[in-house]
Amino acid sequence: MSAPERTGPRAPIEPGGPIDAMDAVDLEAAGRAMHALAGRLYPILRSITGDGVRQTLEILRETVPIEVREVPSGTPVLDWTVPPEWRVREAWIKGPDGETVVDVRDHTLHLLSYSAPVHRTMPLSALREHLFTLPDQPDRIPYRTSYYAERWGFCLRHRTLEALPEGDYEVLVDAELDPGGSLTYGELVIPGESDREVLVSTHVCHPSLANDNLSGLAVTTFLARRLLDLTQEGGADGGRLRHTVRFLWIPGTIGSITWLARNEAAARRVVAGLVAANLGDAGGFHYKRSRRGEAAIDRAVEHLLAAHAAATGEPVAIEDFVPFGYDERQYCSPGFDLPVGSLTRTPWGRYPEYHTSGDDLSFIRPERLAGSLALYARVLALLEADRAYRNLNPKGEPQLGRRGLYASIGGGTAGKERQLALLWVLNLSDGEHTLLDVAERSGLAFVRVREAAEALLAADLLAPE
Ligand code: ZN
Repeated sequence: MSAPERTGPRAPIEPGGPIDAMDAVDLEAAGRAMHALAGRLYPILRSITGDGVRQTLEILRETVPIEVREVPSGTPVLDWTVPPEWRVREAWIKGPDGETVVDVRDHTLHLLSYSAPVHRTMPLSALREHLFTLPDQPDRIPYRTSYYAERWGFCLRHRTLEALPEGDYEVLVDAELDPGGSLTYGELVIPGESDREVLVSTHVCHPSLANDNLSGLAVTTFLARRLLDLTQEGGADGGRLRHTVRFLWIPGTIGSITWLARNEAAARRVVAGLVAANLGDAGGFHYKRSRRGEAAIDRAVEHLLAAHAAATGEPVAIEDFVPFGYDERQYCSPGFDLPVGSLTRTPWGRYPEYHTSGDDLSFIRPERLAGSLALYARVLALLEADRAYRNLNPKGEPQLGRRGLYASIGGGTAGKERQLALLWVLNLSDGEHTLLDVAERSGLAFVRVREAAEALLAADLLAPE
């Protein structure tokens, strides 16, 4: 299929637009590239502040022109304060014989995130209070943090702990918590025809964890690249989105709180948003509704997930908002109440690898990342195309055959469905109902309804409201 002809770089992207026109070859290559990107990011020691986030954003900037923001430690943000910046040089434990038994260079998860500095020698019995393991998953290292209480600690395999002999251990955490540092986050705004914004947000603060973090980073970065390719002047599909789309790559909780504190006006312009995470595992899609529950984003995602389940037989799940989880907690706090949901595969905490070293690069698969990218692209395409139209011939049905609108309709179910879509769009295009209203009421797929609207527009039977 050839790309539709466009009138120029500033022409609006047609209803539905080419955002979701990702063919199989594109997706396969994108899946491999996203997995490779996750592989590059995996070894970096990230936390809510520090060079790990900067290095990560620098790598993402090879794909999209992210603006890197620095907010000084100590800055008041809503009810919080930007914490001191955490920097780590080395961290290890040496056993009674002087051999190294745990070293952060072997795995970033070994160090309690935001660990305070320490250098001392102590017996195993005292050291144990600073060691975290998973007795029920003895070969996995847990992920633990201590952002807002100053303490030090290490995470290790339970099997390693069990094998440690009694004796004196030397512990070193060569780290600092610098009150003169800053918090780093990344932001990319793709301007649209209107200042009504779609927000796509993901956390950037986890160390070597693939599904819970790197999958979100990879999918959102490739989604942003896709939108930029479609909208950049002179590009093959050069056009403009209706909505402004804002991407945020932020440290969890404190990052979204910081962004909200500094961007209240922009937050008020958000008409739809998604928090992205856990997008590479083998599980089906899961959508957590916004606090509002019936916002455009909720209806759009639910419609597409139903279509996805019908087409693939894959299970999908939809849950109501709860005030815990990822950054939707902040976006959906009552003072903002933004229409932001969370679209994931298996949700946080519901797979045994979650927050352990088992969430590694083999746990996420290129084709799962690709499927997630395609769904996110479809959500944005739906939001772009979902608008109200006015039937220009509302008295009686217009004669479709005379205008060639039956000509392209073949026999069988597909033909009947297309005919039905034309009649539904004509009937509900009273300036009040959007195409998603039509899809929901008719039970037809949004893509069918959108195609019908495009055909009716071309036949001058419809006008945008
Ligand atoms: Zn997490």
